[in-house]
Amino acid sequence: GTLSRHFSATTINMAPISKETDFLVIGGGSGGLGAARAAASRYGAKAMVIEGKRLGGTCVNVGCVPKKVTFNAAFIAETIHQAKSYGFHLQETAPFDWTTFKNKRDAYIKRLNGIYERNLANDKVEYIHGWAKVLSKNSVEVTLDDGSKEVVNAKKILIAVGGNPHIPPSIPGSEYGINSDGFFDIDTLPKKVALVGAGYIAVEFAGMFNALGVETHLFIRYDHFLRSFDPMIQEKVTAEYERLGIHVHKRSQTDKVEKDEVTGKLTLHYKSKDGEGVLSDVDHLIWAIGRTPATEGLGLESAGVKLNEKGQVIVDEYQNTNVENIYALGDVTGGVELTPVAIAAGRKLAARLFGPEQFRTAKLDYSNIPSVVFAHPEVGSIGLTEPQAVEKYGAENLKIYKTNFTAMYYAMMEPEEKAPTSYKLICAGPEEKVVGLHIMGLGSGEMLQGFGVAVKMGATKADFDSCVAIHPTSAEEIVTLR
Ligand code: FAD
Ligand code: NDP
Repeated sequence: GTLSRHFSATTINMAPISKETDFLVIGGGSGGLGAARAAASRYGAKAMVIEGKRLGGTCVNVGCVPKKVTFNAAFIAETIHQAKSYGFHLQETAPFDWTTFKNKRDAYIKRLNGIYERNLANDKVEYIHGWAKVLSKNSVEVTLDDGSKEVVNAKKILIAVGGNPHIPPSIPGSEYGINSDGFFDIDTLPKKVALVGAGYIAVEFAGMFNALGVETHLFIRYDHFLRSFDPMIQEKVTAEYERLGIHVHKRSQTDKVEKDEVTGKLTLHYKSKDGEGVLSDVDHLIWAIGRTPATEGLGLESAGVKLNEKGQVIVDEYQNTNVENIYALGDVTGGVELTPVAIAAGRKLAARLFGPEQFRTAKLDYSNIPSVVFAHPEVGSIGLTEPQAVEKYGAENLKIYKTNFTAMYYAMMEPEEKAPTSYKLICAGPEEKVVGLHIMGLGSGEMLQGFGVAVKMGATKADFDSCVAIHPTSAEEIVTLR
């Protein structure tokens, strides 16, 4: 008895080493897939990806992709509404079948999951579905779907586990709310929603709900949202949301959430700039207050990998952790939480670790990363905000160009239909090098990428102006600023 008990315990603790690889990637999201595929397909490394949920990670399953598809639905809703100004006789409110839309969106994501799996096979990356736990600097234990465990020995390990949206634990009833993952499970058109948060997600979701005809309440802690953006963006987009009829509860704090067990509706008790308030009959409360890195239970401490106070993996500019042969990138490292950033960092790392000699010092340049908020209107930003530029160069060394106008698209519309457009170009030094570009307005999402190339190349105001305008567009205003 004692012997066999002892024997089986030993067997469990020391599961046989069943697999070996050069590059073991934990997390099949943007960064992990980017790194593993580049390592295998470009440089011939033996690579393996471990993913516990669905291939593609946050972006494909509960992020960028289903978000953008929903944004497109909201855009169509607006367009239908605007069409009458152009002489179309449409129903004032075209019925929107959220359930049909959601099912089609889910099917699209499922197709993408399949494409991602085939891409891995084509690139000869081994894929294991399961949850990984780091045992040491060269070994990882994987819990497979059937509960069995497998140990993989790896020469190099990449931590690309991303993060999860968090829900505040300290507010009574906060668990009645959902987060951005839950947003994608909503299967009928809500009547009334409340969102708490002031970043990309809260602003994007609020804009989409409102455009789709949902009574939308946005609770923010200060007077503006998107506070990491240029003040022009913060002020103008917040004002535009109010103009569009979104209820922006400023300087607010949620105190308590209650749920009516019969109707399922929520009641929020809050304080705001306007005093104490109660919001009832809420279909969904969505917390959009940031994300927590998925490092809990990952076993990083057994390998000695250092985390910061937020639980993010600490890395240097080459994505090295403090432990040799263990690397990390993407959302789990904090920093710039964007899909193309994770992918680019992954590809650079693969080149450095497995590529030819000339890539030995390859690393991602984290400066001048463009980003877009799919707000109403869209917001685009690259480089320094005005306060950051003042701090870096001094106000006396800056020249700021600004314009505010109404895009020609709205010329045929009633005043209340006209969304604003604002651009700001921040130039530094006598050569007027462009160090910041902030744009908001129709089409800004598609507009920024090309200007981003110019900024990345070190363009000056004169370079911008030397490119002949394309007329009639909104973008032409960026090369004709006075
Ligand atoms: P992830 O994509 O999160 O991938 C990590 C993967 O690791 C996950 O699939 C997870 O299941 C897996 N994993 C975790 N732990 C383990 C484990 N122990 N074992 C096995 N697998 C594990 N970015 C943009 O650029 N544009 C956008 O428009 C945009 N919109 C967004 C909208 C929303 C609602 C959200 C939430 C995010 C959005 N983002 C957007 C951000 C973008 O999704 C992330 O920056 C990106 O997905 C980060 O990639 P990653 O590889 O670091 O992590
Ligand atoms: P963010 O970190 O961008 O924003 C969360 C914001 O919520 C904070 O900045 C803060 O703003 C506010 N907040 C924090 N705690 C609380 C609280 N307790 N109560 C009320 N408000 C609070 O997180 P998100 O969840 O919006 O998004 C995560 C990341 O995903 C983003 O940073 C972005 O990198 C990425 N993303 C990118 C998108 C894109 O590229 N289009 C779209 C969506 C996400 P304040 O201090 O002003 O209160």
